[in-house]
Amino acid sequence: MMKIAPLPEDEAQRLQALRDLCVLDTPPEPAFDALTALAAQLFDMPVALVSLIDESRQWFKSAHGLCLRETRRDAALCTHTIVAPQGRMVIEDTLNDPRFADNPLVVGAPGIRFYAGVALLNPDGLPLGTFCLIDFKPRSLDARQLSQLRALAAQAEAQLHLRMRVQQLHALTREMRQQHELLERQRQALQARCEELATEVHVDVLTGSGNRRAGEARLGEEFALASRLQLPLSVCLIDVDHFKDVNDSYGHPHGDEVLRRVARLIGEALRASDYVARFGGEEFLVVLPGAEPATARAVAERIRTHVADAHWERPPVLTISAGVASRSSTTTSPEHLLQQADKALYRAKAGGRNRVESGAVPAGTHGD
Ligand code: GH3
Ligand code: MG
Ligand code: MG
Repeated sequence: MMKIAPLPEDEAQRLQALRDLCVLDTPPEPAFDALTALAAQLFDMPVALVSLIDESRQWFKSAHGLCLRETRRDAALCTHTIVAPQGRMVIEDTLNDPRFADNPLVVGAPGIRFYAGVALLNPDGLPLGTFCLIDFKPRSLDARQLSQLRALAAQAEAQLHLRMRVQQLHALTREMRQQHELLERQRQALQARCEELATEVHVDVLTGSGNRRAGEARLGEEFALASRLQLPLSVCLIDVDHFKDVNDSYGHPHGDEVLRRVARLIGEALRASDYVARFGGEEFLVVLPGAEPATARAVAERIRTHVADAHWERPPVLTISAGVASRSSTTTSPEHLLQQADKALYRAKAGGRNRVESGAVPAGTHGD
């Protein structure tokens, strides 16, 4: 009876190691085909194989002199080689060996009579398959030929190890690429957040106008420029009239909505070079570069009517008061200019609201 080889120890790990090679069912490769061709020529054998023992078949990575790519595992002589002492097996005549005399690969095609195989191990010593020679008549190998066969087998094994290294490198490259892509996505998200933050630093989140810090910064820049070049510069402080009542009557969220609309209306009344910032709760600062007192007052008046004429439902009527001030030779600082505007705003409130007041216009400038 045909004897079936016992499974190698660590068969599960062995199969895993074979899978990890990613070599099964790949096309022929010159590196292996050159070795089997050389072996066939060197030993004058019709067949030389690189055979890999898969779960239920032997598959040939290289098959010199054989038209098969695989055979069943149970009949494969190589399954005996991979569990043989020292990983070698030579059968000079299969018909004289009871283990193989009735083997289908012996009695049927291809009719194996001579077999010499050397196991191919992975770096951990797990047998993956064999490098083997086959003849269709009884043969023998002398000691020198056996050592030559081992040398060729060692080359085939080295090719498999190389393949393993390449697979590992591919895996490493893939992992690095994934890491790189992950880092790149994080970098982009971070950059987007930085840009958001950079915007938030000078934007008022409720109204989208500049915030107080940005308004002061802009005023500082314009003040320095105007002082150096002796250019007109005006500011306008705007405060919503009786805004507390809006909150009290319609709630804070609706108050927010009203503030957003006031900011929009102010923007509509301005020129492109003017700058508006939300200065406090319901207070806005408008910087008017190049505006003489008369122009500034006209702009403030335009804002006032634009707000007052807007169609408000809740509350039915909404107005603003504004204080305007213009830089002169006696204006010492941006803060000084703001103080003047604030005083003017106070007068507008005191005078009954829904009105524009101007700061004192020093002699020598063109006031109205
Ligand atoms: P006046 O005409 O004298 O300016 O009266 P006023 O009610 O507008 O002034 P007051 O300073 O008494 O009230 C301002 C109100 O603005 C009080 C505050 O709750 C409200 N407020 C400040 N910031 C916000 C905000 O961001 N959203 C809303 N909805 N209300 C705000
Ligand atoms: Mg107010
Ligand atoms: Mg106020």
